[in-house]
Amino acid sequence: MNRVRVILFNSAVGPFDYSVPAGMDLPPGSVVSVPLGPRRIDGIVWDAEPLEVQQIEASRLRPVAQAHDIPPLMAALRRLIDWTADYYLASPASVIRMALPTGSVLGASRSITEYRLTGTPPARMTPQRQLAYAKLGDAQATVRELAAMAGVSEAVIRALVQSGAMQAIEVPVDRPYPLPDPDHTSPQLNPEQRAAADRLVQAVRAGESTPFLLDGVTGSGKTEVYFEAMAEALRQARQILLLLPEIALTQPFLTRIENRFGAVPVAWHSGLKQTERRRAWNAIASGDARIVVGARSALFLPYAALGLIIVDEAHETSFKQEDGVRYNARDVAVMRGQFEQCPVVLSSATPALESRVMADAGRYEALVLTHRYGGAQMPQIALIDLTNDPPPRGQWIAPPLLAAMQDRLDRGEQTLLFLNRRGYAPLTLCRNCGHRFKCPNCTAWMVDHRLSGRLACHHCGHAEPQPSACPDCGETDCLVACGPGVERIADEVAALFPTARRAIVTSDTIWSPDKAAEFVAAVEARAIDVIIGTQLVTKGYHFPELTLVGVIDADIGLEGGDLRAGERTFQQIAQVAGRAGRAAKPGQVFVQTRHPDAPVIDALVNGDREAFYAAETQARREANVPPFGRLAAIIISSEDHDEARDAARQAGATAPDLNGFQVYGPAPAPLSLLRGRHRFRLLVHARRNVEMQRIIRAWLDPIRWPPGVRVAVDVDPYSFV
Ligand code: ADP
Ligand code: ZN
Repeated sequence: MNRVRVILFNSAVGPFDYSVPAGMDLPPGSVVSVPLGPRRIDGIVWDAEPLEVQQIEASRLRPVAQAHDIPPLMAALRRLIDWTADYYLASPASVIRMALPTGSVLGASRSITEYRLTGTPPARMTPQRQLAYAKLGDAQATVRELAAMAGVSEAVIRALVQSGAMQAIEVPVDRPYPLPDPDHTSPQLNPEQRAAADRLVQAVRAGESTPFLLDGVTGSGKTEVYFEAMAEALRQARQILLLLPEIALTQPFLTRIENRFGAVPVAWHSGLKQTERRRAWNAIASGDARIVVGARSALFLPYAALGLIIVDEAHETSFKQEDGVRYNARDVAVMRGQFEQCPVVLSSATPALESRVMADAGRYEALVLTHRYGGAQMPQIALIDLTNDPPPRGQWIAPPLLAAMQDRLDRGEQTLLFLNRRGYAPLTLCRNCGHRFKCPNCTAWMVDHRLSGRLACHHCGHAEPQPSACPDCGETDCLVACGPGVERIADEVAALFPTARRAIVTSDTIWSPDKAAEFVAAVEARAIDVIIGTQLVTKGYHFPELTLVGVIDADIGLEGGDLRAGERTFQQIAQVAGRAGRAAKPGQVFVQTRHPDAPVIDALVNGDREAFYAAETQARREANVPPFGRLAAIIISSEDHDEARDAARQAGATAPDLNGFQVYGPAPAPLSLLRGRHRFRLLVHARRNVEMQRIIRAWLDPIRWPPGVRVAVDVDPYSFV
């Protein structure tokens, strides 16, 4: 008799062995239902090798109940899942869930029922029905999605269906996607682009599992270069995965891909409807989805024939997942390339220091584009020293930047003001008693959002209406906003240039692909004069009439003082500066700072990125921090302060004392209260050649934590709060 080892989804127990009923074929990777006690539960057949189970005699095994009708996960993906679970200290089941993202793919029916309004209102209108009626318009979606859209319960939607006000529509989930054409349009590449593209084409053709660092200044045409590699993968009948950092940015990107390949690519992100998700998943697993553009979660999907992975804007920190499985999609992408035997391209104008060091060591192959395409010049970067040249009291735009903006308005050109702070002001306080508005759930100030009339916490989402009086002293007209956010800068622009047409670009205003498309169209049509934006505008956009960029406060990022503060500041300012003067008209950038002598600022002004990378690499090497030494953060939290503290102390007391493996802490986290949980941190600092994960596992696994305590291990952490 045959036995298989099964990893169970949604269960703290397992893996377990089961017997295979006669006539059932269950290769590793098969998705199955199995009995667990009195219940039936879904799981996946896994290779016996890496898993340890309690040995049970064959005669006592229970049989697999059912094999689901979906293709088994292939060996390359199973190895990636094993690697990810092992490296990031996660459970295999939690990683597998990212490959099989919804329970709904297991149903394997060929269609899903959606609903829409018929136009005939229900006989009885309740306020809730009225609300749904007003909100839904001609939307068509599942009951759950419609309820979320309208902000009513599912019962309200179901009642509308019953009353005949909504009708059911069967939507097939296996409609084919249009096929992209590698030769739909092909640009003439310049010699530098040609050389890089030829090398990538060769690697795709040969199935080399080489990681490439496509390192080209902003506007050098990196996208056109990797499009050539994509075209080759299409000719080889292979699939392409293109990972992007910000989902709001995909719309202009999807259009660009459509223009190049004659077909809209398959998009994968958290905003997909269930029908779209099922359709995309099926096409990815069958190999019919040829170009997949997605956020980091697209990385674990079961591609049938992956031939190329591209990580665009690969330096972006949003590739690091900060909850659940805390992985870095950039690093996992490189591993997936190894297992799938396909090239991986990390594309960036400001590569992560980790990637640069790998390229310098010859582990990644560097392809360098030194010039902007078509003779466009790199923008001039000038400093405004705020201590010498301050803006008037209560304003944030210094006189030289104001003069340059006036000049652009006179010429009909566009300006971008960059400030990485959403809302109107980061802090509100009472002038009378000094009260500061704090989030009740987090160690954080409430951020003033005037556009939505609320105070909001950026950590937990807690929001309150704008107060009219101080809750402490009861005084009215005493609340003052401290410091600027983008909304406040927009007000300043409105006051100084009343006729200038403004656009605020943050996740509050650009919250869907449609909104992003609308914004791009408005800028392209020259219906916007001044863009005021957060880091959302630093990436990807190409606006020919944008010739002036102002960085309102270059010092914000340096204040945090963590490992990557200098690197992040350099990347953000270089990227936002890269939006200026990308076409025929030259660009000018002003950087406002109080620290004109900081090395990062100096490197930016002198356009000397090599000096920056060299100094930063040297500093990291001397401190033996990533990528030279290794870090792992351990975050221990509980709703009860003392319980969290005691658990953290216990972990600290049992920390191993080994050569090349040091543990710091525990200490209260800088963000010591987050979403109502008290947090303590320990930091592991290990030498490169130490088996850090194995040691951490041997240390933490035996500890019996109280039920209210959560322990998260963050390998290669980006966040230190
Ligand atoms: P990057 O991704 O390096 O910032 P892009 O690929 O967005 O640069 O290129 C910048 C602009 O130059 C885009 O509008 C792009 O279409 C154009 N471009 C780049 N290379 C070529 C080329 N070989 N032929 C035509 N247009 C090009
Ligand atoms: Zn909060």
